[in-house]
Amino acid sequence: MSSSAISIQGLTKNYGDFAAVDGINLEVSYGEIFAILGPNGAGKTTTVEILEGYRDRDGGKVTVLGEDPGNLGEKTYSWRERIGIVLQSTSDSEDLSVRETIHHFARYYSHPKDPESVIALTGLSEKADARVHTLSGGQRRRLDVALGIIGSPELLFLDEPTTGFDPEARRAFWDLIRTLRKEGTTILLTTHYLDEAEALADRVAVIVAGKILEISSPETLGNRHLAQARITWLEGGQQRELLSNNPTGEVATIAARMGGEIPELQVIRPSLEDIYLTMIGEDR
Ligand code: ATP
Repeated sequence: MSSSAISIQGLTKNYGDFAAVDGINLEVSYGEIFAILGPNGAGKTTTVEILEGYRDRDGGKVTVLGEDPGNLGEKTYSWRERIGIVLQSTSDSEDLSVRETIHHFARYYSHPKDPESVIALTGLSEKADARVHTLSGGQRRRLDVALGIIGSPELLFLDEPTTGFDPEARRAFWDLIRTLRKEGTTILLTTHYLDEAEALADRVAVIVAGKILEISSPETLGNRHLAQARITWLEGGQQRELLSNNPTGEVATIAARMGGEIPELQVIRPSLEDIYLTMIGEDR
C-alpha cells in the first residue's frame, strides 16, 4: 500500500491525438493541502477526475487512499465513503431546504459529521430553512462544500471552491479548510486564485499543457524566496527605487541617511501571482 494519500506516476490521458495529461508524477502526503494551479485547459480537471474515479486514464499508475480509482471493483462503495468531492457546480434537490439537504446527504454515509455543526461550519445557519433554489451563488457554493464534507472524508477534492464567494465568505472558507486540516483531512485543491493557494496550500503544482512545470511550497515556487525585493521611497522630492537581496539593510542605510522617517517607503517582493504568471508565460 502506498504511503501517500495520492500517488501518480506517469499519468497520461489523450483525447484523440491531443495529450490532455502528458506524463504527470505527483505524490500528496496524508494530511497535506496540495493545490494544482494552471491556466484554462492545462489538464487539471482531467487529472482530478481520474483521481476521483470519474474518468479513465490511458497510461500510468495511480493510487488514491491506497486504491486504484480506475479499478475499484467491489471496493467502490467503501472507497467512495472515504473521499469528499466539491465539484465546480452541482444541482440537485433544489426544492429541499438547506437543512433537509444536508441531513439527507448525511444518511448516505456510515460516519457522517453532525449536520447541524456542518451548517454552522459552512456559515449557512441563517439560510438553514431556505429552499436551495433561493440561495445566492456564493451560498450555493457553501452548500456544495457542506455536502463535500458531511461524510467526514479522509480526502477532500475541492475544484475552484470559492468562485463566487465574497471576500468575507472566502476568509470564512479558508478557516474551515484549516479546521479540516487540523482534523487530519488531506485536501487536493484546484484554484485560479493565487492568494488562496498561498493562504492554504502546503505545496503547489503548476501544470501547463498536461505537464508539471514545478512542484514546491508557495514560498519557494519559481525561486520566489531568492527574488530581489524592490524598495521604493521619496527622497529629495523624487521617487527612488532599487532592487536588493538585503532590503532590511538597505532600508536601515536609507533611514540613517535621511535622519529617520523614509517618506512613502515600500518594500515589495514578487507575489505568488507574479511568479506564476512569469512561469506560465515562459512556457507559452
Ligand atoms: P480549466 O481551468 O478551464 O477548468 P483544466 O486545466 O481543468 O481547465 P481540462 O478540463 O482538464 O483543463 O482540459 C484539458 C484539455 O483537454 C482541454 O484542452 C480540453 O479542451 C480537453 N478536454 C477535456 N475534456 C475533453 C473531452 N471529453 N474531449 C475532448 N477534449 C477534452
